[in-house]
Amino acid sequence: CGIVGYIGRDRQNDARDVLVGGLENLEYRGYDSAGVALSNGDVTVVKREGEVSELVAALESRETLAAPVGIGHTRWSTHGEPSDENAHPHTDCTGDLAVVHNGIIENYEQLKAELRGEGHEFESETDTEVVPHLIEAAMERGENREAAFRAAIERLEGSYAIAAVFEDSEEVLTARQDSPLVIGVGDDGYYLASDVPAFIDHTDQVLYLEDGEFARLTPETVSITDADGRPVEKSLSTVEWDA
Ligand code: GLU
Repeated sequence: CGIVGYIGRDRQNDARDVLVGGLENLEYRGYDSAGVALSNGDVTVVKREGEVSELVAALESRETLAAPVGIGHTRWSTHGEPSDENAHPHTDCTGDLAVVHNGIIENYEQLKAELRGEGHEFESETDTEVVPHLIEAAMERGENREAAFRAAIERLEGSYAIAAVFEDSEEVLTARQDSPLVIGVGDDGYYLASDVPAFIDHTDQVLYLEDGEFARLTPETVSITDADGRPVEKSLSTVEWDA
């Protein structure tokens, strides 16, 4: 299982090739389903139970979007059987944001009951789906995207590497706790992944995210903050990798 993300500077470039290539390079981690979300104004989600090749076939039937922003996922089911519905990314009620997650959200039943009480409807059996709904709920309370993302993450108990994309926004938000997450710094944009092989074809310059940290990637910047929102300075590491 693994997550990937990409935000490129070339607005004509479609993120899907980078994302699919990254997921193929994470196949060794094991998975039962795969999916991507691309953002260029709207958020488009394509996800399939089965091999990454099934996802590629589903993507081929879609018109290419000039969408340089996206996230992807290979799922190793923990909550909910392998199926198209339970595959990631997961969206909120309106479909204007999408989330991928590796790990287990221990308190999802309680969160789901609370969100259902507020009128949220769920399409999957996963623990993950509470996350986009928590972000949506915080945005409905008037929080901006980043504050809403933080508020959602603060509610989670368990392990996670999470990434989110939004409609009408060139950004990827990400956070981790007890699941690996590394950011790649390329000449053409930023990458994120559970593990370096996902993007080693593009860059060997990386920033390692620590437990409890958040990152916001835009085409031109990466800003990392701690659990209290304070900026964290990191230096780039060069990974040695025999590809
Ligand atoms: N717990 C989540 C699920 O079952 C994520 C599993 C994973 O890490 O791939 O969908």
